Amino acid sequence: MAGEPQPDCLFCKIVSGEIPATIVRETETTVAFRDINPQAPTHVLVIPRVHHPDAAALAAAEPAIAADVLRETGQVAADEKIVDTGYRVVFNTGSGAGQTVFHAHAHVLGGRGLQWPPG
Ligand code: ADP
Repeated sequence: MAGEPQPDCLFCKIVSGEIPATIVRETETTVAFRDINPQAPTHVLVIPRVHHPDAAALAAAEPAIAADVLRETGQVAADEKIVDTGYRVVFNTGSGAGQTVFHAHAHVLGGRGLQWPPG
């Protein structure tokens, strides 16, 4: 069922604690943890506890939780002190855009200059 934990989902396993992660923030509906392969001095992933394959599916099914994810990206940026220098929030959606983990997640990237457009 939509939103239910998926047995083969890496990020569902981080939510459950089955796979360890460096968690920086948690709420009732979200978990934020450091990316294992950071692309910037700050690279944190914010995920919903519920499983949806991407951000659009999450927003369509559970818009309040999508809003929680977005709010948490701002909280992470404030905690990491990257607001003044600027930061980027990215939702890679679909394998053609580089998505490899099909559990909705926001990348929060900052702490260095960021180029536009991204590659
Ligand atoms: P991409 O791999 O192209 O960045 P995604 O947008 O799907 O694709 O992002 C998945 C992210 O999850 C990657 O940045 C990857 O480094 C990160 N990741 C994979 N496994 C773990 C893990 N065990 N703990 C933390 N981050 C992870």
